[in-house]
Amino acid sequence: MAARVLVLGAGFGGLELTSTLAEELGGEVQITLVDRTAGFVFGFSKLDVMFGRADAGHVVHPYADLAKPGVTFVRAEITAIDATTRRVETTAGAFQADYLVVALGADYDVLRTRGLAEAGHEFYSERGAFALRETLAEFEGGDVVVGVTAGPFKCPPAPSETALMLDAMLRERGIRDSSTISLVMPVARPLPPSEDASAALLEAFAERGIAWHPDTGVRSLDVEERVARLGDGSALPFDLYLGVPVHRVPVVVEAAGLTVDGWIPVDPRTLETPWPDVFAVGDCAAVGTPRAGAFAERQGAAAARIIAARVRGERTDAAYDGRGVCYIEFGGDEIGRVEVSFFDGHPAGAFEGPSLALAADKQEFGASRIRRWFGREWTPVG
Ligand SMILES: Cc1cc2nc3c(=O)[nH]c(=O)nc-3n(C[C@H](O)[C@H](O)[C@H](O)COP(=O)(O)OP(=O)(O)OC[C@H]3O[C@@H](n4cnc5c(N)ncnc54)[C@H](O)[C@@H]3O)c2cc1C
Repeated sequence: MAARVLVLGAGFGGLELTSTLAEELGGEVQITLVDRTAGFVFGFSKLDVMFGRADAGHVVHPYADLAKPGVTFVRAEITAIDATTRRVETTAGAFQADYLVVALGADYDVLRTRGLAEAGHEFYSERGAFALRETLAEFEGGDVVVGVTAGPFKCPPAPSETALMLDAMLRERGIRDSSTISLVMPVARPLPPSEDASAALLEAFAERGIAWHPDTGVRSLDVEERVARLGDGSALPFDLYLGVPVHRVPVVVEAAGLTVDGWIPVDPRTLETPWPDVFAVGDCAAVGTPRAGAFAERQGAAAARIIAARVRGERTDAAYDGRGVCYIEFGGDEIGRVEVSFFDGHPAGAFEGPSLALAADKQEFGASRIRRWFGREWTPVG
């Protein structure tokens, strides 16, 4: 019987893992990919929709279009995971795996931040970001706070990008002078692994009058007074609050007893969990790299090569290299690019830009993934 590989979660990590495995083993394995949603959405597409650069319908990639040899997509909610027996319960029935991959990403705990649901807007979920498109279009100016509650959070550049894209939008609409933008992040510099990218971001904030509040998070929102209360004891008034909620593993992962200190422990090179032939990649895993699609993708590819070698009964040196590339929006279509490596000593990030020329690179980054995973042409902004 062909080996059964069960991939939980069809996000950045799950899609790349599935594609690499299908390429390596073709029809030699049975690959089952399970996700509760109808289609994949890039993290950056949330900002594109929110700022009116793309329509919601344009950025959803239906899983029905996946066409890889040996891959079956199942749309279902995963309700229980037994890592010891590698058996998984879903709303579409139970699945038994020889190799199990948990790629379920990170969920949000909006209610952990008092006042966020009532007085603010989270922009990290699809629903939150898509709904903000109208809110931003109708905004007439005032005090805006872009606030992160606590780490770790996905895509470390995204709060800075949001502040810069908002600045550009308000300028275009002629209401920047009647607005303030404050950015609150629980880190010492905007992009901790890269000194150069952080310096470029700080310069951009200073040029555009964006108030930068480092080393503290937003603890709560006062619904009556409309102020954000920060961890350092200060408070910022707001007319519009755009928030990054507390992150956590999906409930099913925690209920399965897979976590230590909130995340799934893995060997950072092989992505294998303490349970044999059970792997975890992407945002749900404690790899020691940022929570971002570019990192989840390389982890997925590495885990796929290791699984393929085991299926074939071969030894392999395949390993995750701790690298990832992030594109950073500076507003007005200017893009920066940072390449970060985590496992060669201290994290280091080479930074390029910002420039208009890098916008084409970012478009190709998105387009090439959709070509590879879904076999069709797409442009991120449209
Ligand atoms: C605003 C924003 C901008 C971003 N920009 C970038 C960027 O420019 N570049 C970049 O590299 N990253 C970016 N990211 C981060 C990126 O989106 C994530 O880090 C990446 O998607 C993580 O991949 P993953 O495979 O670990 O998880 P995900 O892509 O989140 O996939 C997890 C999947 O699991 C499914 N799932 C979860 N629980 C269940 C369940 N119980 N049953 C069934 N299915 C379930 C979900 O539906 C989801 O499809 C951004 C994120 C945000 C929020």
